[in-house]
Amino acid sequence: MKPLSTIVQSVPPSPTTMMMQRGRELKAAGKDVISLAGGEPDFDTPRHIIEAGYAAIEAGDTHYPPSFGTPALLDAIVAKLKRENGVHHITPAGIMVTPGAKWALFATLAALVEPGDEVMILDPSWVSYAPMTMLHQAVPVRVPLSAGDHFQVTADLLERYVTPNTKVLMVNSPNNPTGRVLSRAEIDALVHVATTHDLYVISDEIYEHILFEGHVHYSLAAEPGMAERTVIVNGFSKAYAMTGWRLGWLAGPEPIARLARIYQTHSAQSAASFTMAAGVAALNGPQTCVKEMVAIYDQRRRLVSDAFEEIPGLECTPVEGAFYVFPRFTATKKNSLEITQALIDEGLIVGTPGSAFGPAGEGHVRFSIAERTADLEKMVDRMAKIVPRL
Ligand code: PMP
Ligand code: GLU
Repeated sequence: MKPLSTIVQSVPPSPTTMMMQRGRELKAAGKDVISLAGGEPDFDTPRHIIEAGYAAIEAGDTHYPPSFGTPALLDAIVAKLKRENGVHHITPAGIMVTPGAKWALFATLAALVEPGDEVMILDPSWVSYAPMTMLHQAVPVRVPLSAGDHFQVTADLLERYVTPNTKVLMVNSPNNPTGRVLSRAEIDALVHVATTHDLYVISDEIYEHILFEGHVHYSLAAEPGMAERTVIVNGFSKAYAMTGWRLGWLAGPEPIARLARIYQTHSAQSAASFTMAAGVAALNGPQTCVKEMVAIYDQRRRLVSDAFEEIPGLECTPVEGAFYVFPRFTATKKNSLEITQALIDEGLIVGTPGSAFGPAGEGHVRFSIAERTADLEKMVDRMAKIVPRL
């Protein structure tokens, strides 16, 4: 037989997806497992959003929808960008609704890169950024951030990694996995580097509403000189607890959206029809549900961070946003894969190894705090016993 695709074989399967599956299998085998590997709200989708989805199905909204999003959803996204993000230049033609933000990222990269282009990725970063880049035959260039200085981003650091081939900078704030929210100074640094070196920016804002302790989310597309070079990627999975609906979107300059749209017509075609009505209800409806969920994530963040602080051998940077804790295991020689395995073997706690997020994540394990508080309480008790023995 002829060899299979070397391009696809060059990337591993998504470690978060695989670890989520591991948790499901242990649960199915009757184990008292605590599954914290996936970033998935434990809350059900808010009622008014579910009802909008039902109503759409009942009304016969089960046919092919417009490939790039219904007019109502495109308008809701335009209004949301103005209202919440201070982004006033996006038109419906600059938007594409997608089956999940993951696909929006993939389609954006498809629209931007050619083989050999370099894509700058802040390390650690979400597990799929580098593989997505490689699947488009572009080259991920990791900019190592350090837990020691709270994963700070500076212009000097970024500029050390810019080459004549650098084309795209991928940014995610609030950040998965570090929990960092980019400060005003860091946003200024990113804007400086992107505009000086004529880079496109993919700004993954999927955790924008999940902020703690007064941290503020700045949308890069609203910054001076950024409108023509920034594609915002966002979705409904996290803020509205809609992971299974598979609904996301990209918004940016029309020439980029035009290419992403070509790509979608030959691949995913569209998001599912009735999910778009649910998306309109989410964006245009009351936002109290989001605030209520964030308040509970905040309590859980404190619970886990306070407990981890008492465990010798664990070091955590403060969780400013998103819903992950990302402790560093400082008193063991084991690498993050071995630590993750030991936590499963000895405590039935499933996390995601830090190395899955890049070399700068080595020594860390990521745990989602978007899980039931009772499970998190059990997890910290088990960790207190296991960590000293690692
Ligand atoms: N970006 C980041 C940083 C994420 O954590 C996720 C969650 N998987 C996504 C994008 C994609 O989300 P979804 O495809 O569920 O909309
Ligand atoms: N965003 C989640 C995570 O990082 C879900 C899994 C995934 O899509 O990777 O765990």
